[in-house]
Amino acid sequence: MRSYLELAREVAAGEASAETVVELACALAELGWDGPAVREAMERRTAELSAADVERLGGELTGGYRAWLAAMEVVERDMRATGVPGGLRLKAFEDGEPRVAYGDRTASWTLAFHGADPVTEVADAAQDMVAEELWTAWPVCPEHGLGLHAERGSWVCRRGHAAAPIGGLPAVEGAV
Ligand SMILES: [Zn+2]
Repeated sequence: MRSYLELAREVAAGEASAETVVELACALAELGWDGPAVREAMERRTAELSAADVERLGGELTGGYRAWLAAMEVVERDMRATGVPGGLRLKAFEDGEPRVAYGDRTASWTLAFHGADPVTEVADAAQDMVAEELWTAWPVCPEHGLGLHAERGSWVCRRGHAAAPIGGLPAVEGAV
């Protein structure tokens, strides 16, 4: 059986068959991510699904996946602005649970499929992994030089102020 991430990648590309969409729904259910689209895809017979059904269900079943990709692009803007090499990727962990990965490191928790704030979730994971990889606090407050953490869409300084929106850190001299 293909992993959730393999299936989501294929379905999000927009050319998946009804079988693949149903397989994705099964993979989501196995990961414990239930929802109306998961139930509908699993309960209806594959042959009954029209092209429009496949497109609609495929869109709903890849909502979380597409939100994570978009969130990763936002966080990678901050990585580039501050000179962090490389980018983020999604990796199937153990039972196929999607986690954010950077270099050889994998986030210590699984992404929430119906998470309200994927940008903060991905930034939080990236913050840990980049700091461990670079052996230094990342990112740091442009004003105080202290480590920042991700909170409700912002990078928040240890002094308690929001230093920048996630994705909006000012470029550091020498960074791309
Ligand atoms: Zn500060």
